[in-house]
Amino acid sequence: MMRNIKVIGFDADDTLWVNEPYFKDTEMRFRELLSPYMDGEAASAELFRTEMQNMPLYGYGVKAFILSVLETAIRISSKKISPEVIEQLIQIGKEQLMRPVELLDGVEETLNALVGRYRLILVTKGDLLDQEQKLRRSGLEHLFHHVEIMSDKTEKEYKQLLNHIDVRPEEFLMIGNSVRSDILPPLALGCHAIHVPFHITWEHELVDESPSHTQFHTVDSLWDIIPLLP
Ligand SMILES: [Mg+2]
Repeated sequence: MMRNIKVIGFDADDTLWVNEPYFKDTEMRFRELLSPYMDGEAASAELFRTEMQNMPLYGYGVKAFILSVLETAIRISSKKISPEVIEQLIQIGKEQLMRPVELLDGVEETLNALVGRYRLILVTKGDLLDQEQKLRRSGLEHLFHHVEIMSDKTEKEYKQLLNHIDVRPEEFLMIGNSVRSDILPPLALGCHAIHVPFHITWEHELVDESPSHTQFHTVDSLWDIIPLLP
């Protein structure tokens, strides 16, 4: 089935390196700081609501997230939040941006086993500067032929990517942890896709059912893609 594959696209966040747990850490610190005004679960729900409202304006990434954290803090404290707490929240965001890149198990081995046999590309969304810096810190940059940082991962963006790299859908395999962003859009275009689930998934990325499709596989860890490829 996969004998036509020429290009493999890898998602980055929570596929190659740890990401969502860092957002959860920031959210827990936000909940603690806002605990005088609202209980934790409710504060998280308010934060998620703000994020979804801001998504069309801010897009994805840590900076967008922190702006939503600040907006939510002001709202749920009825503007009583102190400048000192605002400062702390800004600092927590900066710390999240500067966290070291923690590669997931088997990432280097898998990429090294595939480079040279396929054209490897990185396909991610979020903040351009942040993603570029993470890639540099990851030590993986030299393994990728092309890096695509999209504002969103919908069919339209994947179609543009395929045109740009001049590859037919059946020659492209996408690998990632999000069914919504990494799997469903490429499958809809006729590409192949492999889902590598991560233990935490952001609420926004959750979908109800996993696809059943002849060009779709699920594996437990990244290394398990190797036996699936010719
Ligand atoms: Mg991801």
